[in-house]
Amino acid sequence: MGYVLSNEGINKAFEALRKEYRIFAPVLKVGEGRFKDTDVIRYDFVDSYDEVEMDKRSDFSYKDIVTPLSESMFFFTEDQIREANFDASPVIVLMRACDINAVERLDQIFLANGEHNDYYYERRREVIKFALIGCGKTCEDGFCVDMGSNKAEDYVFSLDPKDGKVYVNVKEDDLDAAFADNSESSADVVPQFVTENEVHVERPEEVPLTLFKDEMWDEYSKRCINCGRCNFVCPTCSCFTIQDLFFTDNGKVGERRRVNASCMVDGYTDVAGGLVQRRSNGERMRFKVLHKVYDFRKIFGYDMCVGCGRCDTVCPEYISFSNCINKLNARVKELEG
Ligand code: SF4
Ligand code: SF4
Repeated sequence: MGYVLSNEGINKAFEALRKEYRIFAPVLKVGEGRFKDTDVIRYDFVDSYDEVEMDKRSDFSYKDIVTPLSESMFFFTEDQIREANFDASPVIVLMRACDINAVERLDQIFLANGEHNDYYYERRREVIKFALIGCGKTCEDGFCVDMGSNKAEDYVFSLDPKDGKVYVNVKEDDLDAAFADNSESSADVVPQFVTENEVHVERPEEVPLTLFKDEMWDEYSKRCINCGRCNFVCPTCSCFTIQDLFFTDNGKVGERRRVNASCMVDGYTDVAGGLVQRRSNGERMRFKVLHKVYDFRKIFGYDMCVGCGRCDTVCPEYISFSNCINKLNARVKELEG
């Protein structure tokens, strides 16, 4: 069902939803950016529609709600283990089409990638519903159209602000009353999706093996400072590492955590015996880029990157991921002659 709501109406609808759900949404954090006097858009729990940043793409993704930066898994003593609690109350996450497509990638990795589902991901995922924020215009650095991630159907309701009203398309019957009871009128509502980005990418169909040692990656050894920011903002990066914290000197009482990891930072490929699989930043860039726009597709049939553009925007060295994809494509064509 489709509805048109005033600003007061949509805030009342949020009030009604909050009786059952927590709402996790992009919020403009004034003055909380990395540099002095800069703002940042991060996800946070909100009480009202007015708190939500509806206009611009968030700098950080929704990902913290499904794969927290640091998550306690269990506590242990010498002879006991107790699973860590987590807040299992239902959540609605407001997100754009690219991010809804990104959830599909995380589901693939954690829930459809082998015999066993990832328990910690699954228990969080089960209490989450996704709502769509319509995109009327492209965001900075985004290339979702070329990645085929500019549209999404898998949402419980959509929100499109226009001319002082909010247009809502509700797909889940249980949520209908919250909007119907506070609407000005019913309408046929079709969410807005971006159909044209300023940035375009072309991906190679196949990549020759010689590309793995190619000189094109040397540029990134010089420029990249392996800070890992590109990974931490990415809505599809899923790597984590395990850390044990010991509460006692004998190491027999403590807590096990899983913590987000980054394939760009030191330590990620260290193995027993002191071997480092990818030492240079160029090699790390090669791994990341091919994983996002080639290797994942070879396994699952579609690319991992959704073209949200966050990694381009956040890189302190102005390394553009979309440029890198295009350079990769050009180099593959060159090698093919
Ligand atoms: S954000 Fe930029 S500098 Fe930092 S690891 Fe990624 S590509 Fe390298
Ligand atoms: S690789 Fe960059 S553009 Fe692609 S999904 Fe991740 S953050 Fe977005």
